[in-house]
Amino acid sequence: MTNRKPLIAGNWKMNNTVSEAVVLAQEISNGFEKDWAELVDVCVCPPSVDLKAVRGVFLFDHTKVAVGAQNVYFEPKGAFTGEISVDMLVEIGCEYCIIGHSERRELFGETNEGVNLKAKALIAGHVKPIVCVGESLAVRDEGTYLDFVRAQVRAAFAGIGAAEAADAVVAYEPIWAIGTGRTATPEQAEEVCAAIRATLAELFGEEVAEGMRVLYGGSMNEGNAALLLAMPDIDGGLIGGASLKAVSFLDIVKAAL
Ligand code: PGA
Repeated sequence: MTNRKPLIAGNWKMNNTVSEAVVLAQEISNGFEKDWAELVDVCVCPPSVDLKAVRGVFLFDHTKVAVGAQNVYFEPKGAFTGEISVDMLVEIGCEYCIIGHSERRELFGETNEGVNLKAKALIAGHVKPIVCVGESLAVRDEGTYLDFVRAQVRAAFAGIGAAEAADAVVAYEPIWAIGTGRTATPEQAEEVCAAIRATLAELFGEEVAEGMRVLYGGSMNEGNAALLLAMPDIDGGLIGGASLKAVSFLDIVKAAL
């Protein structure tokens, strides 16, 4: 982290009914100390059916915790059964939206092209995309992971200008580290996050790239967060499992202060 404000984002994935989500949000709110909001941006990304209720918890409290969605569709409206539009997220007050998560790429056929369309739609609607990129174990073992991740970044931002990209967030999430308990070492994570920033600089210029936030995700927890967040190109975390317990999540937020 340099002078970029860190972002700690919780990806709740397919966990928590509305009532469970409200309890977790309330616990986060209760444990969140007053001066933290000035030093770190915090966001939780619950399932879409929980968004409105979770937003309600944070709307009038002291935390400034934002809410984000886990997915969106790029078309504005129409016959797209099961999908959710940017406008729907905006009306609820979503500030962020995760796109291109490896689980969506692997299990639900999300492509680089789809991620790009979603990024454009979100930016047009003033919702900040959290663009997930990351290689599989096979790609890491082949040694081509930097090229792989750089290509994912280029594809996600194709046709997007520097001014539009400036508020977007990129999350480096090596697939082999997600939900496995096998975190990337700070050096491994930094190597790729630095390569992501270099790619952003090629696309948008040095100044914009220096202002954009690059997160690490993959088995980040209260035990390893501080060392990861101390790396110069890691500006925060996208946290899955450890974001489901308020104490763990708050400890990670604390590590980013
Ligand atoms: P994890 O998930 O922290 O449970 O590894 C991270 C993610 O998939 O965003």
